[in-house]
Amino acid sequence: MPVTTYDVPTGRTGPVTRALWRRFKGDVFLPGDAGYDQHVLGWNRTIESRPAAVAVAADPSDVRGAVLAARDHDLPLAIQATGHGTVVAADGALLLKTSSMADVEIDPLRRVARVGPGAVWTDVNRAAARYGLAGLAGRCGTVGVTGYTLGGGQSWLSRTFGFAADSVVSADVVTADGTMVTATAGHYPGLFWALRGGGGNFGVVTSLEFRLYPVARVFAGMSLYPLDRALDTLAAYRQWALDEPDGMNTAVLLMRLPPSPLVPEPLRGRRVLAIRAFHHGKGGRRLLAPLLDAAGPPLLDGFATRSFPDASAATNGPDAPPMANRQEVEMFRELPDDALDAMVEAGAADSPLAFVELRHWGGAMARPAPDAGPAGHRDVPFSVMAVAPYPTPDRTVVDGHLDRLAGRLRPYATGGTFLTLLTDPTRTRSAFTDANYARLVAVKRTWDPGNFFRLNHNIPPASPGGTVPATQPESDQRRARK
Ligand SMILES: Cc1cc2nc3c(=O)[nH]c(=O)nc-3n(C[C@H](O)[C@H](O)[C@H](O)COP(=O)(O)OP(=O)(O)OC[C@H]3O[C@@H](n4cnc5c(N)ncnc54)[C@H](O)[C@@H]3O)c2cc1C
Repeated sequence: MPVTTYDVPTGRTGPVTRALWRRFKGDVFLPGDAGYDQHVLGWNRTIESRPAAVAVAADPSDVRGAVLAARDHDLPLAIQATGHGTVVAADGALLLKTSSMADVEIDPLRRVARVGPGAVWTDVNRAAARYGLAGLAGRCGTVGVTGYTLGGGQSWLSRTFGFAADSVVSADVVTADGTMVTATAGHYPGLFWALRGGGGNFGVVTSLEFRLYPVARVFAGMSLYPLDRALDTLAAYRQWALDEPDGMNTAVLLMRLPPSPLVPEPLRGRRVLAIRAFHHGKGGRRLLAPLLDAAGPPLLDGFATRSFPDASAATNGPDAPPMANRQEVEMFRELPDDALDAMVEAGAADSPLAFVELRHWGGAMARPAPDAGPAGHRDVPFSVMAVAPYPTPDRTVVDGHLDRLAGRLRPYATGGTFLTLLTDPTRTRSAFTDANYARLVAVKRTWDPGNFFRLNHNIPPASPGGTVPATQPESDQRRARK
């Protein structure tokens, strides 16, 4: 990973640090301080950041203070809540941590949650469940609500209710010039549109409000099978999934079970075929029957009717701990037999992969509201995702395996991806349709023409001479001229 160096005016008495200490209530860590090394870690340990300073914000005015301190001293700013989505090292930057701003408020009457930028899904799941409500949570409870939602957010309830980004009601944002604004459908609609899928490119979100749904209990879980019928099951899933109702959310994986005490002893570490399903509605087992039959007798039948928080945990298995890993994801309109063969080969008994997963999208994700944000390629029905632990120093086995799988799948893939699942920032454009990307660039030019927020899945602003598309709402154009 190349290290970018900046002329950094930090250090214990440097001007950035002095500016921060003047404006900041939270903690500031410099290299060498106790706590610095812990704060700079991301979830994926292949990315090692050495920021010039870490600022742990206590409230929105701290966020503004950090933005202004970095801006005034020409320092790039990186934003981190949990580090699950760190895709670029924050070397030489000011790393703004939001993890201390983790308030969660549930309004059961409006069915809305309001969360601070450091909140994680476990917090929301638990708080909402007290009222029989659920948000469009990430598969792992430790994932940050804000980073996930800004990138689109694909949930176990997304076929039923859409992307998490589709449920956003409002966002409080500190913009690149330090202004604090609230973006809603009626107020700064261009910014509001871009925030619902365009990632962390447009400002630091200090509070997010989103809709909750009356989902108290669901039929959900993960059943495990021997690998023998993997190809038949993938072929059955390819067909069966196209008729699954919107209440049904599914994926089929070839995976290695973690050596976790939460996995039954005889299955720990074993490679298996897994069917994951999450059904909101009645008759889940009956609906799933053709798919389960294709897989044969299970090693473990993990389906049951459960509370929403328990169902999330049972469907995913134990939350993956931070690790060095490599992740690849591609989208597919069609999956010929050769693509399924490639998956089975990649997930075979001696595979170094943690898993290779076929996921069906569609449902409510494919029927966006007219004013929906830029998240995803909504009309593409399938994704294949492969994840492998990435050992050091010798990664040739893993790279060979993943490169071979990618090579086999590439002829059938659309070339599109989904932002939250994309770990390669050089492919950011592939997460959007051409029309949405053009509009994102225009919104970026309005709100962050200097590309201050660039240590992310970056969407650079249009060239200064570029035109602002007609789709850009008037209120945002006015903001740009101020
Ligand atoms: C184990 C695991 C499970 C996952 N499961 C799912 C899943 O089920 N569905 C799915 O869609 N994705 C999933 N993801 C991907 C996840 O949604 C993204 O990695 C997401 O970016 C994580 O957000 P975070 O805040 O936790 O991460 P962070 O690394 O803290 O943030 C990631 C990026 O989000 C932006 N960001 C974060 N906070 C703010 C803010 N307050 N203001 C502006 N920008 C901000 C920044 O650009 C930042 O670099 C998973 C990832 C992992 C590692």
